[in-house]
Amino acid sequence: MPIKRAYRFRFYPTPEQEQVLARTFGCARFAYNHMLRLRSDAWMQRQERIGYHETSAALTALKKTPEHAWLNEVSSVPVQQALRHLNTAFLNFFARRAQYPSFKRKDGPQAAEYTTSAFRWDADRREVRLAKMGAPLAMRWSRTLPKAARITTITISRDAVGRYFAALLCDDAVVPKPKAQGQVGIDLGLTHFASLSTGEKIASPRAFRNCEARLAKPQRALARARLGSKNRAKLKKKVARLHAHIADTRRDFLHKLSTRLISENQVIAVESLAVKNMQRNRSLAKSISDASWSEFVRQLEYKAQWYGRTLIGIDRWYPSSKRCSVCGHTQTSMPLSVRTWTCPACGTAHDRDVNAARNVLAAGLAVSAHGEAVSPVLL
Ligand SMILES: [Zn+2]
Repeated sequence: MPIKRAYRFRFYPTPEQEQVLARTFGCARFAYNHMLRLRSDAWMQRQERIGYHETSAALTALKKTPEHAWLNEVSSVPVQQALRHLNTAFLNFFARRAQYPSFKRKDGPQAAEYTTSAFRWDADRREVRLAKMGAPLAMRWSRTLPKAARITTITISRDAVGRYFAALLCDDAVVPKPKAQGQVGIDLGLTHFASLSTGEKIASPRAFRNCEARLAKPQRALARARLGSKNRAKLKKKVARLHAHIADTRRDFLHKLSTRLISENQVIAVESLAVKNMQRNRSLAKSISDASWSEFVRQLEYKAQWYGRTLIGIDRWYPSSKRCSVCGHTQTSMPLSVRTWTCPACGTAHDRDVNAARNVLAAGLAVSAHGEAVSPVLL
């Protein structure tokens, strides 16, 4: 089965390349923001919808004016791609999948997308060259690209810490995995990242649990630091570095766990996330967990599709915590503080989360056995 797969590598631009990239990011951001304003004004003032083609024509006209001639100094492809991204953002908004598009900030993460006409890939020499960029990029090849991979898009990004990455999107072939014997139910939680119906509990990486404590001091200092001071810039970098570290750890952890569960199990049942999201709590640890849960389920979804596994989402109404997974007795209430309990009907001692995971698996197997429509997992 052919699929799209992205491989992300760090690279180290020369000072000249860094300058060209800074200008390219700037032009792409300008085009995005300028056309966002144009589209917003048209809608607010005249109830008129402007699409991709109108913004593309407006960009061409803009590039011919002397005061915007600088837009021609960089590769036109990433600038054009910015308009496509803006269009996608609007389509997602109209389909109620996303918030109204917002302006891109100069101090946020930056990105530029190069399609095939704007880069050269030499597979033998393993060299990537971008349009208007001269020398090949100094890539750190942390893993090997498959021989058959055909690169269709390269996204260059710079994170808040100033590291550069190139994500190579490839048309790739999936090597099928043999059918697995296992079946697993997953309960996602705060005290443990996941509890499995097998009784295994998977802790969150230390990086997310301690993030609040580690960020608190530099963040407080940053709030007090004088605007424009050297100290403020230093603290800002420190906070950004901590955030980047948390994000890296999280990505690594989620990929390892989702790959493992998909390899070991043929059927995977997971509670849909609406249940979890109802427990609103604004702490940082909680927001990282929220983001991790949805990213984790997203990874399970596409990996299940690649490798022919069955992934089942269990509805929010299902009383997974209150029900005894052995005899089916259902408690009337089960406060969050209760971590272990004994079923009054059959006497089984339960770990709260493992029992919930077993119920999720049982519900998942029942749903798939009846061939009923399976509710979408991602909300
Ligand atoms: Zn029982």
